[in-house]
Amino acid sequence: MTSGKLTFAIGGMRCPDCVTAIENAVMPLPGVLYAGASLAGATLTVRPGPGFRQADLVSRVVALGYTMCDQADAIAPSPGPCPCRR
Ligand SMILES: [Zn+2]
Repeated sequence: MTSGKLTFAIGGMRCPDCVTAIENAVMPLPGVLYAGASLAGATLTVRPGPGFRQADLVSRVVALGYTMCDQADAIAPSPGPCPCRR
């Protein structure tokens, strides 16, 4: 099994609550051994384990109102209220 970490670019994080919201959403997913979001870096780092499914991870984050990309491209923040305050 892979022992590496995956890093995704996250769009829409604006405050520490966003970081917490994302971490709390993805940590319970099967195969997620560790999840840590960085507000400053606009990234989410995940350590995948057995059963990890990237599609589930992405859909979970997107469902919260954020954008997620496995490319290093900068994601323009969308206007409107903080996604974590919905
Ligand atoms: Zn927020």
